[in-house]
Amino acid sequence: MQDEMKPADRYALVGHPVEHSRSPLIHRLFARQVGHDLTYELIDASEEELEAAVRGFAAAGGKGMNVTVPHKEAVFRLADELGEAATTAQAVNTLSFSGSRIRGDNTDGLGFLRDLTRNKGQAVAGQRVLVLGAGGATRGVLGPLIAERPRELIVANRTLERAEQLARIFADRGLFKVCAFEELESLGAFDLLVNATSAGLKGEQPPFPGSLVGTQTFCYDLSYSLKGTPFVAWAEQHGAGRAVQGWGMLVEQAAESFRIWRGIMPDTAPILAQLEQLTA
Ligand code: NAP
Repeated sequence: MQDEMKPADRYALVGHPVEHSRSPLIHRLFARQVGHDLTYELIDASEEELEAAVRGFAAAGGKGMNVTVPHKEAVFRLADELGEAATTAQAVNTLSFSGSRIRGDNTDGLGFLRDLTRNKGQAVAGQRVLVLGAGGATRGVLGPLIAERPRELIVANRTLERAEQLARIFADRGLFKVCAFEELESLGAFDLLVNATSAGLKGEQPPFPGSLVGTQTFCYDLSYSLKGTPFVAWAEQHGAGRAVQGWGMLVEQAAESFRIWRGIMPDTAPILAQLEQLTA
């Protein structure tokens, strides 16, 4: 039972931009499902405003924050304590505040893998996998992807140096190759294509060659939009076996953050069904 005199626990999402986010809705639905009383706000903060936004929210009594584009790597450096996935990824999407201490976790990888393998039924073991993008989200999904033992794993990024930096971070976790977008033309079709660029947020689609996609290719876009995403449209145009947006990952990573904060795992199936109705 909630104490009626006690104000609701406060949570927030910090990022730039954040107005597109459905995280407040998802966390409200989780809270209603398990009978908890909480609020969930959106905080738009630039790189320069980030630290003040995080520390200010904690000082004002906030219990936790999710972190989104483009701050997952920067916020890693603010944490006093880190969970294992955040340590591996050197990126954080979930902050928990206790007094002046900040704990950082990364639930992106787990959320992605749960949606991909459990909800969508797509295996990773033995598959040829290409991840497009090398930002904070890629850092989160690489550990779980490597652990599934794909036959081949390649990370391609517009800025090659950023992908090379990832290869150094994950050097002891298993081998993956990195390449620049210019090299994609020569790679042939993949079993699994993961779009982890943020280009879709601006309605853009980088000029990826259609040869990456075959009739068996599963295309997973981490981005999501009620109007559909440019990457999913591109994948369908090139005859992908299946192309999905990142709604399922959004719900699953949120559920894992909720579990860390509230000590209870919500049932994601009804929330996913509700979101699917919105996007149908
Ligand atoms: P980030 O750290 O800002 O990284 C952005 C990545 O996108 C970088 O690799 C960047 O390349 C690339 N990029 C941006 N604009 C591009 C363009 N026009 N052409 C080619 N590449 C471009 O962002 P993030 O946190 O990794 O997030 C990436 C995406 O995943 C976002 O759309 C985010 O909404 C989505 N996401 C979804 C979920 C979910 O739950 N569904 C969870 C996490 C993230 P450079 O290095 O060359 O700049």
